[in-house]
Amino acid sequence: MSEPLIQLEGIRKRYGGDNGAPQTDVLRGVSLSIRTGEFVAIVGTSGSGKSTLMNILGCLDRPSDGSYRFAGQDVADLDDDQLAWLRREAFGFVFQGYHLIPSASARENVEIPAIYAGTPAEQRRQRASELLTRLGLGQRLEHRPNQLSGGQQQRVSIARALMNGGHIILADEPTGALDSHSGAEVMTLLDELADQGHTIILITHDREVAARARRVIEIRDGQILSDSGATPTPGSDAKGMAERLARGDSGGASLLTDIREAMQAAWRVMWVNRFRTALTLLGIVIGVASVVVMLAVGEGSKRQVMNQMGAFGSNLIYLSGLSETPRSPAGLVTLDDVRALATLPQVKMIMPVNGGDTTVRYANVDHQAYTRGNGVDFPHILNWPAAEGSFFTQADEDSAAAVALIGPKVKEKLFRNGEDPLGSYILINNAPFQVIGLLAAKGASSGDEDADNQIVVPYSSASVRLFGQPNPEFVIIAAADAERVHEAEQAIDALMLQLHRGVRDYELTNDAAMIQAEARTRNSLSLMLGAIAAISLVVGGIGVMNIMLMTVRERTREIGIRIATGARQRDILRQFLTEAVLLTLIGGLVGLVLALLIGGVLHLAEVALVFSLPAVLGAFGSALCTGVLFGYMPARKAAQLAPVVALSSE
Ligand code: ADP
Ligand code: MG
Repeated sequence: MSEPLIQLEGIRKRYGGDNGAPQTDVLRGVSLSIRTGEFVAIVGTSGSGKSTLMNILGCLDRPSDGSYRFAGQDVADLDDDQLAWLRREAFGFVFQGYHLIPSASARENVEIPAIYAGTPAEQRRQRASELLTRLGLGQRLEHRPNQLSGGQQQRVSIARALMNGGHIILADEPTGALDSHSGAEVMTLLDELADQGHTIILITHDREVAARARRVIEIRDGQILSDSGATPTPGSDAKGMAERLARGDSGGASLLTDIREAMQAAWRVMWVNRFRTALTLLGIVIGVASVVVMLAVGEGSKRQVMNQMGAFGSNLIYLSGLSETPRSPAGLVTLDDVRALATLPQVKMIMPVNGGDTTVRYANVDHQAYTRGNGVDFPHILNWPAAEGSFFTQADEDSAAAVALIGPKVKEKLFRNGEDPLGSYILINNAPFQVIGLLAAKGASSGDEDADNQIVVPYSSASVRLFGQPNPEFVIIAAADAERVHEAEQAIDALMLQLHRGVRDYELTNDAAMIQAEARTRNSLSLMLGAIAAISLVVGGIGVMNIMLMTVRERTREIGIRIATGARQRDILRQFLTEAVLLTLIGGLVGLVLALLIGGVLHLAEVALVFSLPAVLGAFGSALCTGVLFGYMPARKAAQLAPVVALSSE
């Protein structure tokens, strides 16, 4: 006769013994062989070791001692994937407690073994529906386990056991939780399956139930008491199974299909627990949104100061005469001083300014504006180009030409009807000037609205035609090195003291220092905002971690069920990872959208903010990382559990 399908030799199972737990020998040398197509009942009182034996038979647990040969192969030599293959392709489990996945419908529960076997979705769906219909559940395909009666749930689990063929059905007290009618139905079903050639191992404490089988093995205190003997079975032997096992026919779908399945399963779980999912998401959403918004506000405020610096240059020093006091006359900075200062190596550009409030007129419109006489260096020294037209030249300066550039606000006030200002003549304090250019708008970036209400004319023209005095009101000096403004200031001071015979009747200021100090405060402000935001992201991450830990713990039994139906470790890992990634991905995206919305509101409230890609990616990335990390760790732990331990967890 050929090799038996299942052959146990001196199987022992011992619990406890280490770290103080009492040692119990649950199986004490069980030897047994079962052939293909047999219908065997293992009967014994409660606690006699039946379930322990079945878990070993179904490769859900390993014996402490003895050998188990399946189709001639020593099971101890099989690796994890081969064991998963056995559970998936060779065995079909039917448990007393049904062990269905609560979040999945009847049909989806039945499909699970086929998912791990890589059966295409359509085929799987159809087979599951057929099986359920055959077992009388055609009307209950989309019901979840808690919407089904015990008998119906048990039939779902039988359908699941048959999904991949169910060559060997291992049924542990399948009627134990059922009323007598449903119990009888389940027994009839098993009978029919036996007739169709399935090998059936039925475990029961009920002798009447056991009597339905064709071979009865009685077990007591972990030992076989009696065996009615192998029944001759027609047809197939263990060879086919042995060949398939040897071929390493591991099934499994393509990565893409696997991921799609995992996504669907993840989505289902999230949907079933939508309240809890929403709360977890809230943590991530708030974390991501606050990081992005706060960094944007910080960056915006910093940019604002930088713009101010950039608007007028950070290397500028202002020199002016001291105003008159009762004890001393007004100090005066002269053009001779300017010429002398221009020779200093620390000075890059120097420009006298002669300005004052003026009345400007065009056609019959009057307007008040500040008019300043400047050197030709104006556009470079102040980083203030003409938006239209051109600047005056050295020739204009030399000939005191009556030409002017006007600021956008002046244009707006004077040229109300949309006339082209370029080439037009305006009156400044009753002196005619021709407009040759428009100044670029500066008010918005510098924060100084008056900057746009200015007129610029050549220095000599201002002196001669407008203010009637040759000396500058103040002098703007650009230091050669923006980093060494202070040194330049000292050099200027030394020379001025010398020129003014030791009388300090002038003053030097530079706003770079002030602006830089301001920028520093804003910088620390944005750092602080960023830190607060990062904390909220961490809190969000802890939320994800907590949820994933809870989810895995809660669903350890589900993991056990999946392993019992043939999932490999990587299937389990992939599923939980997918859930974590999906969760954080959704949370991150919603967080980004929220950040943009908040940004929009803040923008309306005229808060300066700049969204930066690194901040967005950083926030999103860290949310994703926490999700993956904390999804992975507990899932890995769960996937490494022994299937029996996972199955028996609450
Ligand atoms: P049956 O299914 O026949 O009722 P079991 O196989 O479930 O019995 O259990 C047999 C014995 O093994 C029981 O006395 C039980 O207390 C013990 N047992 C089962 N599982 C464990 C375990 N994980 N740790 C310690 N003892 C166990
Ligand atoms: Mg039991």
